[in-house]
Amino acid sequence: MTNLRLPAVDRLLQQLAASIAVYGRQPVTACVRAELAAAREGARGGLPLPDEAALLEAVRRRAEAAARPRLRPVFNLSGTVLHTNLGRAPLAAEAIARLVEAAGAPCALEYDLASGGRGDRDDLVSPLLAELVANGDPGIAATVVNNNAAAVLLCLNALAQGKEAVVSRGELVEIGGAFRIPDVMRRAQVRLVEVGTTNRTHAADYADAIGPRTALLMKVHTSNYAVTGFTKAVDAAEVARLAHAAGLPFLVDLGSGTLCDFAAYGLPPEPTPQQALAAGADLVTFSGDKLLGGPQAGLIVGRRELVARIKKNPLKRALRVGKTTLAALEATLALYRDPDRLQQRLPTLRLLTRPQAEIEAAARRVHPAVQAAVGDFAAVTVEACASQIGSGALPVERLPSAGLVLRPAARRPGKALLALEAAFRALPVPVIGRIRDDALHFDLRCLESGDEAGFVAQLDGFDPGGRGNPA
Ligand SMILES: *Cc1c(COP(=O)(O)O)cnc(C)c1O
Repeated sequence: MTNLRLPAVDRLLQQLAASIAVYGRQPVTACVRAELAAAREGARGGLPLPDEAALLEAVRRRAEAAARPRLRPVFNLSGTVLHTNLGRAPLAAEAIARLVEAAGAPCALEYDLASGGRGDRDDLVSPLLAELVANGDPGIAATVVNNNAAAVLLCLNALAQGKEAVVSRGELVEIGGAFRIPDVMRRAQVRLVEVGTTNRTHAADYADAIGPRTALLMKVHTSNYAVTGFTKAVDAAEVARLAHAAGLPFLVDLGSGTLCDFAAYGLPPEPTPQQALAAGADLVTFSGDKLLGGPQAGLIVGRRELVARIKKNPLKRALRVGKTTLAALEATLALYRDPDRLQQRLPTLRLLTRPQAEIEAAARRVHPAVQAAVGDFAAVTVEACASQIGSGALPVERLPSAGLVLRPAARRPGKALLALEAAFRALPVPVIGRIRDDALHFDLRCLESGDEAGFVAQLDGFDPGGRGNPA
């Protein structure tokens, strides 16, 4: 009976012309039906029926929420620069421009413009990579797949299927999620031969493990943890010598793999593919979107004949990258040709090397707006902090940084903190911080000066308790 008092769908739609113009008739109609159903459901539970104005407002809000993309930009104030859950490396302007160009028009992805014949998509970046990591050595080639996990899987399957790969026990790492070297070996149909112990592995351990079924020796950069104390690892040059003496290839999974000398930028040193190849590695694999600062990709660089074998493997086709990735990767790699401007143009390097004093100045600039936004819900202070590089790179090192610390006024801050964190997440551009020691911490390293105005503007009308936020 109460149903009779709800307006008809068509009657509501007549008053929703503005929403229909933005979102389309069908999506808005679906929202009208959903709101009417919700109102009927509420009435059955004893709630009063909403009036027409309230219904229209609810439909408008529902239509807006439904149209909002799920993949949305956020402010990464988490203190982790290369945050896997927040998309890792932000791309350089040059890479974004090339990616957009490739996305919207036909491009010579596998087309040789000189001959008019079929081309190879790896040729778009292979010579550039050889130039950057091996001074253009013609014996060095590269191939690109979806991510570094795929690169490792592909190398192992192509070079060691049905055979054995020798790895130190101290390097059988798990890299977040489900990437564990022993599991990847199994999926690649390679038998793992573990040598040494968790903390110590000697050259003789590798030598003793080499037998008739051995296909390769492998080293994994233990990028996301550090073993300290009574430790011994065999360096890459020595493992390379042992592999080559037995006529076997030597594979190095670098994980992060920066192409520049981090120490020259005052950053903790990180191994490079240049060093691995110079030490005798036949193949190195590394991520495109970690320290390299490019798109998600897995790069395989090394001896041309091994790369050719890898490219013939059917998995390569399943794991290959698309034109937007290659466009962004080529543009990112090209930035490394001009080291003088790299720090300024590559966001990852720019963010990692941002001086603490500059970050602190940014924190002081936005502090009044944040304190005004949270009012007496929380006290906001500017404090020094320490950023993490993230993505498993350099797990122990911290970069001196600065940010805002928000301490709720509530005596037992647990719930207030969660509400405050949720309110910042509900902003049009969600702000992602980190809760620690009964406070919400915003590390401002990744809030660059160009982002400050937008960050502050959206705090207008902020509700720190989160109660007024639309669902
Ligand atoms: C991060 C990492 C991987 C996985 O790389 P993705 O690009 O995330 O797939 C593999 N090995 C090591 C050592 C890593 O650090």
